[in-house]
Amino acid sequence: MGNSSKRLTDRFVLRAVVLLIIAFTSTHALAQDYVPGEILVKLKGSSKAVGSQAFVGKAVTEKAMVLKGSFSRLNLHHFALKPGQSVEAALAELKSDPEVQFAEPNYIFRAQSTGREGEMVKMDVVNAQSASNPSIYAQTTADIQLSEAWDEVSNTTSTPIVAIIDTGVDYNHRVFANSGAIWRNTREIANNGIDDDGNGYIDDVRGWNFVANTNNPYDDEGHGTHVAGIVLGTTQDIQQSTLEPAKIRIMPLKFLNERGSGTTSDAVRAIYYAVNNGAKVLNNSWGGGGFSDSLLDAMAYAYSKQVVFVAAAGNNGSNNDAAPTYPANYNVPNVISTAATSDIDSMANFSNYGASTVHMGSPGVSIYSTYPDNDWGRASGTSMATPFISGLAALIVREAPQMNGYQVKNLILGGAVHIGSLEGRTITSSRLNVFNGVHAAKSVVVASSQPGYDPSSMRNPASEGAGEAAAGCGLVRAVMSGGGSGGGGFGGSTPQSNAAFFALLLVLSSPVLISMFLRSRGGKYQRRHPRYQINSEVRVKFGDRELVGQVSTISLGGVQLNTEAWLEKGGIVAMSIRSPDGRDEIQVEGKIVWSEESKRYGVAFANANDSALSVISRWTQGLLKA
Ligand code: CA
Repeated sequence: MGNSSKRLTDRFVLRAVVLLIIAFTSTHALAQDYVPGEILVKLKGSSKAVGSQAFVGKAVTEKAMVLKGSFSRLNLHHFALKPGQSVEAALAELKSDPEVQFAEPNYIFRAQSTGREGEMVKMDVVNAQSASNPSIYAQTTADIQLSEAWDEVSNTTSTPIVAIIDTGVDYNHRVFANSGAIWRNTREIANNGIDDDGNGYIDDVRGWNFVANTNNPYDDEGHGTHVAGIVLGTTQDIQQSTLEPAKIRIMPLKFLNERGSGTTSDAVRAIYYAVNNGAKVLNNSWGGGGFSDSLLDAMAYAYSKQVVFVAAAGNNGSNNDAAPTYPANYNVPNVISTAATSDIDSMANFSNYGASTVHMGSPGVSIYSTYPDNDWGRASGTSMATPFISGLAALIVREAPQMNGYQVKNLILGGAVHIGSLEGRTITSSRLNVFNGVHAAKSVVVASSQPGYDPSSMRNPASEGAGEAAAGCGLVRAVMSGGGSGGGGFGGSTPQSNAAFFALLLVLSSPVLISMFLRSRGGKYQRRHPRYQINSEVRVKFGDRELVGQVSTISLGGVQLNTEAWLEKGGIVAMSIRSPDGRDEIQVEGKIVWSEESKRYGVAFANANDSALSVISRWTQGLLKA
């Protein structure tokens, strides 16, 4: 073999290796962070459609998946896979299902801060410093013209709501407590155990904790409290011991856990909660690398409700044009993707950038703000740059409460000032200026509508087989189909619950439909036993929850139910059925199954023993056939 042919061979081998690496990379396009063994599936059409019900039923009974939650109005379902099944395998299988609009991993997102810097300082110390030198604003020394902006704001009673979608907020911190800044859900009565306003969340008087599913969005990490302090600190001086009444409201929504990470499913729930409960500005100091159609839909919904979505560009020091960060890179027209600049207007070395994907810069280096337990401390990150913009967005909405998110965004971008270090690295080459934004809001004519947006303009390229995640990312250029009817077909103003337990509560408040349901050999279900009218109490347990209802018909085969909520906990239920005369009771275990014949879910008495069956036989003697 001559030298030249050997060189050719080497080149061929090299090329083959490169191709292999590319192939490996593209088949591992999912190799982002995601929750192992969990997927999100959006079905076509309505969740009440027979096809959708059948899909969910079969997923649970035949694929042994566990339904962890349903966004019924969206027909979006959150499943845990059966043990041992990979997310990739499950998604590949679902791709060809005609019922499925999209299926995707439950991606993990992270707080975009580089962490706490230096010592914590107590609130008293900050108050003392402020008292000795009242003119010093310590959160940043960047020239964003805050004091000029505060002189400019109008004397109005409007208090726009900013949702802090984060690790939670220490709502007891004196900065928030003494200014009255924390949002209060006035339609909810505290601690009465009732969902008074019917928004699907019980006793949600000040936001929600989507990690623990409780009404306590307290911050167990610190990031969200720091972010909230920057938002509030953009609207007023929060270093004084005597605080002015807040001009805005902070809605604490916890979806990042005590380590600062959270999932797509919880982020989506938090976004819907924020929008449906009145937030006009969403602060998103978090991000990650996986394209999620569910998240895109939620953001399009926020846009359709005229809400601003401020997002951290990310802290990898990388180019978002080439390696997208989400949610910052979604091309929804209300998104402001935010880079971090220093006090002297250099670009932070950790900050992501993008000439066509990152909109602007904002101070994000060594920002001084609140931490839990009346502490103050410094932190850096695009996480810290984002809330300055959210604060301005709130001040703009306060001046012009009818202004839509698209116009608010454009006032913020238009008022930003040119900074050399951002040239070629952001869309506007500009850094936040709070005064210019407030000033413009006072004089501009409020637009009556905003451009429409169709999330299908940016559907997951991977689902179309393109494999390149960066395709289609951009700015407002994807705005299409005018008329402000965005939102991906899930409009309507009724607040909706994303919590599975809410569906359970609905079940509890409605009569249980029970009819005959039979099983036979080979996994095929068909009618075999006669069905009888009966009027007995039944209690069905799934996990730690118990449902009490009335049995109206019964047979030796099982009972039939009409709600997907019963599929929780893998569809395994334990039932106690009382005899018609109330003197007798049997315990039967069952598994929720889908009946293709009757197009309904049912409980098969799979593990019912002979004595239980003979008791039912005895009960049904003398009863009328149904
Ligand atoms: Ca509620």
